[in-house]
Amino acid sequence: MYGLMMDTPLLIWSLIEHAKQNHPDTQIVTRGTEGEIRRYTYSDLHRRSMQCANALRSLGLQPSDRIATLAWNTDRHLELYFGVSGSGLILHTINPRLHPEQIAWITNHAEDQILCFDLTFLPLIEAIAPHCKTIKHYILMTDAAHMPSASKVPNLLCYETLIQAASDQFDWPILEERTAATLCYTSGTTGNPKGVLYSHRSTLLHTYAICMPDTLNISARDCILPVVPMFHVNAWGLPYAAALTGCKLVLPGPGLDGKSLYELFEQEQVTLSAGVPTVWLGLLAYVKQNQLKFSTMHRTVIGGSSVPPAMLKTFEIDYGVQVLHAWGMTEMSPLGTSCTLKHKHAALDRETQLAIKCKQGRAVYGVQMRIVDDEGQTLPWDGQRSGHLQVKGPWIVREYFKEEGGNPLLPDGWFPTGDVATIDADGYMQITDRSKDVIKSGGEWISSIDLENLAMSHPSVQMAACIAVPHPKWDERPLLIVMQRSGETVSKEQLLAHFQGKIAKWWMPDDIVFVDTIPLGATGKILKTKLREQFADYKLPETFNAR
Ligand code: AMP
Repeated sequence: MYGLMMDTPLLIWSLIEHAKQNHPDTQIVTRGTEGEIRRYTYSDLHRRSMQCANALRSLGLQPSDRIATLAWNTDRHLELYFGVSGSGLILHTINPRLHPEQIAWITNHAEDQILCFDLTFLPLIEAIAPHCKTIKHYILMTDAAHMPSASKVPNLLCYETLIQAASDQFDWPILEERTAATLCYTSGTTGNPKGVLYSHRSTLLHTYAICMPDTLNISARDCILPVVPMFHVNAWGLPYAAALTGCKLVLPGPGLDGKSLYELFEQEQVTLSAGVPTVWLGLLAYVKQNQLKFSTMHRTVIGGSSVPPAMLKTFEIDYGVQVLHAWGMTEMSPLGTSCTLKHKHAALDRETQLAIKCKQGRAVYGVQMRIVDDEGQTLPWDGQRSGHLQVKGPWIVREYFKEEGGNPLLPDGWFPTGDVATIDADGYMQITDRSKDVIKSGGEWISSIDLENLAMSHPSVQMAACIAVPHPKWDERPLLIVMQRSGETVSKEQLLAHFQGKIAKWWMPDDIVFVDTIPLGATGKILKTKLREQFADYKLPETFNAR
């Protein structure tokens, strides 16, 4: 017997319909590519999303055609989020920080029909357009006044001109909820990037989940500024969550430096932000240098890589900003876990509470987790044993677009994340490494993340990365690569002294190398593959830190 409830499909356009109906005058603020501030409401977003859908329809597209974007977090990008997916097309957000060749490869693989881009990326588009075989039109996301008088880009259209000419009435199609809605490619540090094709259903379920109090706790009382780009896993789902809750939304455009962000936080009374740790390094440095405080921002989501405990403490203790440590991946829409305390933790002292908050957190309802050993045996949730982290759930990838890379799932249907983690009896998961970054020394694992966090708790260290180097006796030993804060110096000996007593002796890095910069990938994560190449011929000093 079936239940007797309505089968209303979960569709992305329902979010913007809800926002327009219930929060018509709530503001959406954008800092555009020229630094100008634009301000409108959910009612305007709704109208322009419909115009966007009509404009695209006039270009003769078929259902499920891919519309690519190379764009910052802006109102126009948001209109494409709703106008493209809402009308049954697929929004394909591309990370502009990827190598141009990789971008061209991705557009060909996705068979994108249209590419919408911000003015910032005009030179990039001019360079790659001859290699993008399937794109029929390029749309510059600007107004007529900012269109270039001459450009090498073929079939170049102006976004605002298209929108102005389009009707603001559009009948959103009643799609099957498993219809594809958006496409994101993994950052692909090895091999070709792989496309993750989200459905309307997976997106809506993920949106519900991220708004819950123990997840990101988003409501109509919030003003969110997503620093995480709309080209990185749909800005972690925040644009959809904004429409679901009707919160005020602030979109920072390309200005992601500490000063520009801080100004927007204060001017727009932002309550919640989200981004990767490297972005917050810049913001915290600016705030500290200028002796500023946050007057309204009381929560920030940090994810994408492990939040260094020193950063978490600075936010929480020095600035009164609650850190929500979250973990996920492109293949997971992205959210898998978030770290909030339980009722029983209220009695704990602050230090102990903060130590829990440094973990990646508990599974969001909808995501199942398990850890297994090298033989695939499930490990206990004791907070001690670390194993390969595997997940299951309705917003987790089943298959990559065009089956790139073969079936990603294990025979019993679990998805191997490539992360190594512990899970404690309360369900708190803690990543100890990426499986390919783990340092295997004398048959035991050393966590590169623990060593990096410890190094970054030293006041003179801006960023640290730990990689394995081959060792004749122990197989691999840790090499610590350190970037110092500007104007500060710390010696190897001082840094090692800082490690003393805080980790097992055999975890001590065998050497420390100081560098001017640490390479970051397209999503702001440390590029360990690059570092491993850079230090491929590195010989550990025989005398240094002999065990
Ligand atoms: P991406 O698909 O580019 O978002 O990368 C996903 C990977 O980023 C995960 O598999 C983790 O290795 C890493 N990651 C994401 N969030 C965290 C976090 N909070 N702590 C540690 N690693 C993280």
